[in-house]
Amino acid sequence: MSTENKLWPHQEAKRIVERWPQKEKYILQTGFGASGHPHMGTIGEVVRTYYVAMALKDLGKESEIIVFSDDMDGLRKIPKNIDAPWLADHLGKPVTMIPDPYGTAKSFGHHMDEELVEMMARTVPSARFMSATDAYANGTFDEGIRKMFRHMQGILDLTLPTMREENREGWFPWFPICENCGKIYTTKVESYDGENATVTYSCTGEFRDVKGCGHHGTQSALGGRGKFFWKADWALRWYVFGVNFEMHGKDLIDSAKLSGEIVKLIGGKPPVNMVYELFLTEEGRKISKSTGAGISMENWGRWGTQDSLNLLMFKNPKQQKKLGTDSIIQYTDETLTMTKEDPQYRFIYYHGDRPDLGGLRYSDIINLVNAISVTDPDQLLEYLGRSFGHDRIRQNEVFVRELLGKAINYYEDFILPTREVPTLTDAQWALVDKFDRLIDETNDGDAIQTGVFTIAKENGMAPKDFFQVLYGVLLGAESGPRIGGFVKLVGKDRIHELVSKARSAQQG
Ligand SMILES: [Zn+2]
Repeated sequence: MSTENKLWPHQEAKRIVERWPQKEKYILQTGFGASGHPHMGTIGEVVRTYYVAMALKDLGKESEIIVFSDDMDGLRKIPKNIDAPWLADHLGKPVTMIPDPYGTAKSFGHHMDEELVEMMARTVPSARFMSATDAYANGTFDEGIRKMFRHMQGILDLTLPTMREENREGWFPWFPICENCGKIYTTKVESYDGENATVTYSCTGEFRDVKGCGHHGTQSALGGRGKFFWKADWALRWYVFGVNFEMHGKDLIDSAKLSGEIVKLIGGKPPVNMVYELFLTEEGRKISKSTGAGISMENWGRWGTQDSLNLLMFKNPKQQKKLGTDSIIQYTDETLTMTKEDPQYRFIYYHGDRPDLGGLRYSDIINLVNAISVTDPDQLLEYLGRSFGHDRIRQNEVFVRELLGKAINYYEDFILPTREVPTLTDAQWALVDKFDRLIDETNDGDAIQTGVFTIAKENGMAPKDFFQVLYGVLLGAESGPRIGGFVKLVGKDRIHELVSKARSAQQG
């Protein structure tokens, strides 16, 4: 425990217990926007929250994680990865009141919720899913809504100064759903009754190209007929569920502050908020959820394992991290080589121990795929068996096949398009030939490794330059693995083949 107490989940757990020393069960919340498909980033935040639950347990404290879906939010635009242009007619409606583009669920929002619930079942099954649509409709929020309506002027006084001046006119914290056209982002509240929690509205607003239907009406705020704007919505959840902890990105510091003020206004206590840094691209730009260009949380799973994402989520969340294609290999390799003595291990592998693959790393597999230019998993399994033991590979076949699938994606997406065998000088070829002979003289990986150094030094070349030449010839890359282990992995025959292929390519 002594080293673990320095880990961030324990620090957060201590903050929670200090603020509510007597509470029997702590509520940890995390949110989900149901306007698109959930992805690994969504789950990443649930996992990160679970780490805090684990730390609370270490302190002898019970907790529950609520994953709250904002499925009452209106659809503002058609997600890029959903091919359903007809959704344009439904923009501005709550996503649970829009037909499911896939035709399998009750609505668009329910479809996304179902996907999320399925991902949760695989990653953090103890977390409890909650839907905003349900909570607003079934009375869960009624007491909180009534309270907030009685404090409406206070909410306005807190919120308006945080808004841009041109947006303040006519703005109201409650968005009614138009009973005529079903849209939530086109209604304007004209007056309200704070005691009875009712609003009089007109459907005369617009956003983007979407216009209101012109309807006028008066309706109750109860029974799922509308919702609060999101910062008041956040406060409502904190208040109603008695949330003790919620983490959020650095971009939401001001929002969380306002939500905290609103909670206090209605007599609640804001949760402990942990602020995490956002991931950056290699160029130092913020990784956007919506662009999908390059590595993002959305597509991490195409190349990286859930375990590698767990590690990414575990590494100091308050430190800014740049994510590039190399990061996927680094994080995956780190999980595959992590020992049980590592204090991070029980967090990364909270769902069960990692199979023992005898030191096999993800980068080995990627190098293998690259070197033999084979993307057939069966053939690759055979190769891996030769180096890491056929029994071991067969016993863990499901896990290894998952790694293979991701490595093949990595090879096809990032390596193949940039692979380039260099043009060598005669002197460089002479050294490559010496290497080609060296590997026939010994089967020992260390001896091959040392031999490469010796060849370079004896011929007046810096070893790192010679390694670069070899990586160019063997992998079409500037960097690569330890040559000794690599030769063993792909086999001497294939190395000879790669050398002669590179030579004929140069000779044209
Ligand atoms: Zn309308």
